Amino acid sequence: MKEKTIFSKIIDKDIPANIIYEDEHSILIEDISPQAPIHYLAIPKKEVIGISDLSDGDGELVGHLLLMIKEQMAIKGIDDYRLVINNGSEAGQTVFHLHIHVLANRTLGWPPG
Ligand code: 5GP
Repeated sequence: MKEKTIFSKIIDKDIPANIIYEDEHSILIEDISPQAPIHYLAIPKKEVIGISDLSDGDGELVGHLLLMIKEQMAIKGIDDYRLVINNGSEAGQTVFHLHIHVLANRTLGWPPG
């Protein structure tokens, strides 16, 4: 059996996390090492390694993640935020279970590092 990623362990409640929101298909948690005052991770419960590993049938899931982020940020009254997906280790991915970083409440520079 393949080793679970840290995010699958969080989804399965094997290890704790600060959970902002959860539904059947997704979970929104606080990043353990925040890079901004608000730093959440939106994670699909389905085990997908990264954007490159999405299949044609995953469109609804990706849309669900984006709408979930939109709703949760609206609930928090946060209008300005940045979404980041690191796809592959060269791009900075360290956990190989698809996730969207949600960063807010500080000025974010461009271009990113
Ligand atoms: P990546 O580098 O793959 O784009 O992002 C992985 C993120 O997961 C990092 O920002 C890192 O801080 C976060 N992370 C790693 N381990 C844990 C953990 O055990 N709990 C939580 N909440 N976040 C984690």
